[in-house]
Amino acid sequence: MKEVFVHRDPTRVGFFRSVLEEAGIPCFIRGEFGSTSLASRKSIFFSPALCVLHDHDEERAREILDDLLNAPSTEERDWNCTGCEEAVPANFGSCWNCGALRPGLSEE
Ligand SMILES: [Zn+2]
Repeated sequence: MKEVFVHRDPTRVGFFRSVLEEAGIPCFIRGEFGSTSLASRKSIFFSPALCVLHDHDEERAREILDDLLNAPSTEERDWNCTGCEEAVPANFGSCWNCGALRPGLSEE
């Protein structure tokens, strides 16, 4: 058992857990509410920890999590124009080629 990620936000830890599970890495979250009464009494000082079951999965799990943590958010990614299919840099709100609005942007 190896701890690969600790964060105060259980949602984030839960998300990473599902990512690891999808990658076929057995893992669990330590420090979730409701484990034991003793643990819950201490829970305000305790952040949930994502752990891999097998030590040999640790390296791969860390690589996957590093990729997630370093990945730019969707808003910073280049996008493809739906009108002319040109690749458009992330900071453009509309297509440099044909002027079509970026998909997903509201049309206010
Ligand atoms: Zn275009």
